[in-house]
Amino acid sequence: MRSLVASDLSSRRRTRPAGLLGLLCLFVLAPAGAAQVHDVRLAAISGGTRLDVALSDAVTDSLFTLDNPTRVVLDLKPATLDRQVHLPAAQGLVHRVRVGPREGGGLRIVLDVDRQVVARRVPAAAGERHLVLELTTGDAVHAAVPASPVTVAPAPAAAPVAVAKTLPAARDLTIAVDAGHGGDDPGATGRDGTHEKDVTLAVARVLAARINAEHGMRAVLTRDGDYFVPLRERIHRARVAQADLFVSVHADAVRDPNVAGASVYVLSARGATSEAAKWLADRENSADLVGGVSLDDKDNVLASVLLDLSQSAAMSSSMVAAEKVLTELNQVGEVRKARVQQAGFVVLKSPDIPSLLIETAYITNPAEERRLRDEKYQSRLADAILAGVRSYFHENPPPGTRLAALAAPQP
Ligand SMILES: [Zn+2]
Repeated sequence: MRSLVASDLSSRRRTRPAGLLGLLCLFVLAPAGAAQVHDVRLAAISGGTRLDVALSDAVTDSLFTLDNPTRVVLDLKPATLDRQVHLPAAQGLVHRVRVGPREGGGLRIVLDVDRQVVARRVPAAAGERHLVLELTTGDAVHAAVPASPVTVAPAPAAAPVAVAKTLPAARDLTIAVDAGHGGDDPGATGRDGTHEKDVTLAVARVLAARINAEHGMRAVLTRDGDYFVPLRERIHRARVAQADLFVSVHADAVRDPNVAGASVYVLSARGATSEAAKWLADRENSADLVGGVSLDDKDNVLASVLLDLSQSAAMSSSMVAAEKVLTELNQVGEVRKARVQQAGFVVLKSPDIPSLLIETAYITNPAEERRLRDEKYQSRLADAILAGVRSYFHENPPPGTRLAALAAPQP
């Protein structure tokens, strides 16, 4: 749910690219005074379920129920969802909680219920900014009962939501798949003569095909043959394709033939700092946008703040995606390092595209070299990477994508 608030903010500006910087600017410029939802909890009560929403500030709210499917809707305004909030699991009458942005700075909380319920506001403990609802299967079915007419007004049913308008323009997610090395650069070579550049291309092709078979996703290969592509050019190709994620596929090498297992890397803080310096120095000669925002008309301080925001957002997204991929790779074979690694690899340096580099296995380990050449194993690697990517995007759908449209609560 992390990105839902962000989705709303940026989708008003543009639907593409789903740059991180754009939405961050809007966070910075967003009008003050919107209450933050810090926590959303469900608890069992006698005969029903209680919803407790913790807020930073007072909000206007409206409460109503809708049918097909049956749901209780709570609109808050002005309000945003704290990015740390984890929505509660099913509890009692509520089988799902969804949260999405509303036009005009509001936030909608939808409780999917499996039967008709009575929803009632109850006073929270004195001095606490909580909004508490009790859902029961009362006699008076299908009615939202306002406890206080001042703050709770039944709203007209089926008001249009912001997400509905963006549906026709919804786009596919783009994933740049980068086969490491190529052409004159064979990468590492195993004892039996297997070249890393061939294995990476094979896995990258399978991965791209798998991605293209997914609903709402498409793949772009940075190379699709045995030729050399400079590292910066790989980043450039991903940027031109307006990729939402960059995944570089490699095979590892080390002197000790016993070393085995996969590792996943994201950009290190040091790598990001040096890249930021480069972007700032080059910005007047470059027409590149960072997250859809031009840096060349900004003064130094503003440009560096914007770049820093974009980079930190991209880096934290990279880490989340990398952890998902690492978890999936762990199911396929050995994992060399149980935690995501950080390094200054050039291909990871896009300031606004979350980027991962996957060392699929050690080509210098004879058993792993054999596996890397095996088509079945290549497919299993591709499947694991896709599973990680899919799970990342389902939790963090970029604004304007079909996935985001699917994830957004219906009115
Ligand atoms: Zn490599």
